Amino acid sequence: MTFEKLGLNADILKAVSDLGFEIPSEIQEKSIPQLLESDTDLMGLAQTGTGKTAAFGLPLIQKIDFESKDTQGLVICPTRELCNQITRDIKAFSKYLPRPNVVAVYGGASIDNQIRSIKRGAQVIVATPGRLVDLIKRKAIKLETVKIAVLDEADEMLNMGFKEDIDFILSQTPQTKSTWLFSATMPKEVRRITKEYMDDPFEVTVGTKNTTAKNIEHVYYMVKERDRYLAIKRLLDFYPDIFGLIFCRTKRETGMISEKLEKEGYNVTALHGDLSQAQRDAAMKKFRERTVQVLVATDVAARGIDVDSVTHVIHYNLPDDVENYTHRSGRTARAGKSGMSLSLINTKESYKIRQIEKIIGSKIEYKKIPGSDDIREQQMMALVDRVVATEVNENELDKYWDMIYEKFQNYSAEEVVMKFISAEFNKFIEYYKKSGDLNASKNDKDSGGSNARGDKKNRNLSGDSQRFFINLGEKQNLNKGALVRLVCTTSGINSKDIGRIEVHGGYSFFEVSKSASKGIVAGMTGKDYEGKDFVVEETEPRKGGGGSYKGRKKRSGGRSGGRRR
Ligand code: AMP
Repeated sequence: MTFEKLGLNADILKAVSDLGFEIPSEIQEKSIPQLLESDTDLMGLAQTGTGKTAAFGLPLIQKIDFESKDTQGLVICPTRELCNQITRDIKAFSKYLPRPNVVAVYGGASIDNQIRSIKRGAQVIVATPGRLVDLIKRKAIKLETVKIAVLDEADEMLNMGFKEDIDFILSQTPQTKSTWLFSATMPKEVRRITKEYMDDPFEVTVGTKNTTAKNIEHVYYMVKERDRYLAIKRLLDFYPDIFGLIFCRTKRETGMISEKLEKEGYNVTALHGDLSQAQRDAAMKKFRERTVQVLVATDVAARGIDVDSVTHVIHYNLPDDVENYTHRSGRTARAGKSGMSLSLINTKESYKIRQIEKIIGSKIEYKKIPGSDDIREQQMMALVDRVVATEVNENELDKYWDMIYEKFQNYSAEEVVMKFISAEFNKFIEYYKKSGDLNASKNDKDSGGSNARGDKKNRNLSGDSQRFFINLGEKQNLNKGALVRLVCTTSGINSKDIGRIEVHGGYSFFEVSKSASKGIVAGMTGKDYEGKDFVVEETEPRKGGGGSYKGRKKRSGGRSGGRRR
C-alpha cells in the first residue's frame, strides 16, 4: 500500500513525502480512504505511536477549504504537550496548501496571543478542553462553522475530568459535523460519548494490546521498597546509552527522583504538572534535542509525548491504574523500532504484574537487577566504544604532541590505554565495589532491620539530644536505614548526629544531637518519602530508657499519623 492510493491530493502527498513517510501505517490505511470518501463519524481504538495523528490529520486538512478563514476543523486533546505536537504535525501536513492557519490553544499560556491568532482566521484549532471552554465563553471563538471535530485520547480526557467541558464544547458545534474519536481504551464513559454524539460510526481498531507489545521487551525486577531508587541507578548505569523515560506515580515522587538523580550526575530532567509552562517546554525541548537522556515524568504530563527512538521506559512505580502501563510502554518501540519496558516492583506487587500481563496479552519477564560485575562491564565497554568512535583532531593535537609524548614515553601502548580507562573509571569501580545485591523475593520481609547504609544497631549519642516524631513507619516501608537517609538528605545533617531510632507501625522516633537538631523540622518540612507526605515534630525525650514499644503502640493506636507522646 502507498499513500498515493489512499486518495490524498498532490500537495498533501508532497508534505507526507517530505516527512519521510513511505508506507501508510495500519490505522492510516484503514481510516484515510473512509474519511475522505464519506462524511462518516469514526471511532478509532488506537494508541499513540500507531500514526493516528496523520490518520485524522491528513483527511482533515484535505476536507478543509483553506480559501475560507472559517474554523472548520477542531481537534480536542488532553494536554498542552499533545496539543503542540498535533499542531506541529498538522502544520507540517498542510505546508503546501494555501494560507493554512493552524492554531494551538491551551491553558498556561497567554490567552490574548491565542485570541489574536484565532482572529486572523484559524481554519484548524487544536485545543485542550479547559482553555477552549474559556475562549468560547469569552466569545473569542466561534464553532458553528466546524465540519469535523476530533476527540483525541478521549479516555484520558475523561480520566482528567474533562467530561463536562467536552459536552459543552460539542454542544457549541453544528449537528451536521463529523466526529472522529480516538481512544487507547474503551471504558464506559467513552462509549457514552460515542453513543451520544456519533451516528453509526465507522470503527477501526489497531495496535491491539497484543500487537503493540510485539517489539517491546517487557521486564520486571523485584526489589525491597527502600531499594527502588538504588535499583533505578543500577538500571541507568547498566544502560549507559539509554534514551528513555522514567515514570513515577506522583508529581512529588517525580520531582524527588529527578532531583536526586541529577545531583548524582545523571543526565535527567523532570516533567510534571507542578512545573511552570516554560519549565515544561524547556524540559521537552531538552529531551527532544537529546540534551538530556532521561525524562522523569508523571503519566499525565507524558501522555502522548511523541519522541522517536525512545529506547527504554522505566516504571519507577507501576501506575495505579494498570491500563496506564500500555500508554507508558507505548512511548518506546515507535515507528517500527524496538524498545524495553522495565518495571520495578516490591515484594508485595507480583499480582500487579499478572494483571498487566493479562491486559497486554504478553509475558513480562522476571530479571535480576544487574550486579556490579555486569554494570562495570557494560560501562567499560560503552566507554571503550565511545573512545573508538571518537574522531581525532590531528591539527589541534599536533601543537601539543611533543609535550604529550614526553609524558607518556615510558609507558607501553597498553599501559596508556589502561591509564585512560582508569582515569575515567576508578570512581565508578569504587562505588560498585561496595554495592550489594538488590534483588528481593516474595518471601522477603520488605521492612524492618537491614544492612542498609546508616542502619547501625547501636546508635548512642554522647551529648545532649533532641527527640523527633515522624508519622512514617513500617507500613510506609520505612526502616532505620531509610529513615537515616531521609533525615540526612532532607535536612543536610550527618548520619553520625543521629542517635537512637525506633520504627513502629505507622510512626517512628529518632534522636538527633542537640547541635545538629535545629534545622531538622525546617529541612524536612514539605519533603516527601517515596511520594508520601509526612509530618516531623520535636517531641519529649524518651522516658525510662526501657523499650516500651508495646505501650506506645497501644497509645497511638498504631495508625499512620497516630499521635505521639
Ligand atoms: P502518532 O501515533 O501519530 O503519534 O505517530 C507516531 C510516530 O510515527 C510519529 O513520529 C509520526 O511522525 C510517525 N509516523 C506516522 N505515520 C507514519 C508513516 N506512515 N510512516 C512513518 N512514520 C510515521
